[in-house]
Amino acid sequence: MTLTVETVPTVADAARRLGTGVRYLGGGTLVMRALNYGDTSVSTILRSSDPALTRVETSGDRIRIGAGVTMAGVMASRDLEALHPVARVIGGPAVRNMGTVGGNLFADPPYGDFAVALLVLDAMVQVEGASEVPLERFLGERRGLVSAVTIRRPERGAFRFRKVSRVKPKGIAVLSMAAYLPGAPGRITGARIAYGNMGPRPIRVAAVEQALEGRGLDAGTIASAAGAALQGVSPQTDPIASEWYRREVAPVHLRRLLEAQS
Ligand SMILES: Cc1cc2nc3c(=O)[nH]c(=O)nc-3n(C[C@H](O)[C@H](O)[C@H](O)COP(=O)(O)OP(=O)(O)OC[C@H]3O[C@@H](n4cnc5c(N)ncnc54)[C@H](O)[C@@H]3O)c2cc1C
Repeated sequence: MTLTVETVPTVADAARRLGTGVRYLGGGTLVMRALNYGDTSVSTILRSSDPALTRVETSGDRIRIGAGVTMAGVMASRDLEALHPVARVIGGPAVRNMGTVGGNLFADPPYGDFAVALLVLDAMVQVEGASEVPLERFLGERRGLVSAVTIRRPERGAFRFRKVSRVKPKGIAVLSMAAYLPGAPGRITGARIAYGNMGPRPIRVAAVEQALEGRGLDAGTIASAAGAALQGVSPQTDPIASEWYRREVAPVHLRRLLEAQS
């Protein structure tokens, strides 16, 4: 089967060109692997050379991350310092040099670690030709061409992330977890907790957020949060871990995340 590669100058052109058989290429770490494994649903690979896709821009407390910014690009940005520990544990150097923020939003489990982090940072997704939507809503549909993701600059020390993998340093996640805890260890206001690999897509965990909200991060609060750790989750069994294992270890790792243990 013939495969066509098209490069268009703007994101708007790319959005117009999307359709049956046309697959947008971010860094290609997943698209190219699928093609190499014989995915015949794609007849055209679409790229865009729009420079806006690879920019990180700040305005007040908002940071706009172009969808084509790679994990290496995240690690090179001072404005994205809070996200360096997340980008650093995504794949090895080759994957980090190619894999993009936009592509991560479309990565199915066991991938999508970056999206987990973005979920707790109040991320808004810009789909070309549409209004910005909260990431949580976007992940439910995952449609259209993403041009950028915007986050609020995190309060210093409030963001935490944990990726649990069996192979170090670059293994695929058994699960990943992120927390945003403004005010901690004092009274927490606006707690946000998200998991990866504990459902069909990265999810917020409302029961844990409620257990933390308005409380200090002491032993009692952490115990209540760990007690709610499995509410609303539906982990899968895959070659990395069984559903049973993910359920067993999630409360332990949530506790460690909240206690800020390594
Ligand atoms: C060896 C290996 C290790 C990996 N390790 C990890 C890991 O540890 N953690 C992790 O999270 N992921 C991991 N991945 C998965 C992947 O590399 C990342 O999720 C990466 O961020 C995907 O981005 P990409 O640009 O390469 O996506 P692509 O392969 O380019 O695209 C993936 C999908 O997203 C769509 N897409 C891409 N960009 C856009 C856009 N702007 N708008 C609309 N649709 C878009 C594509 O059409 C395609 O359907 C790994 C992959 C490999 C091969």
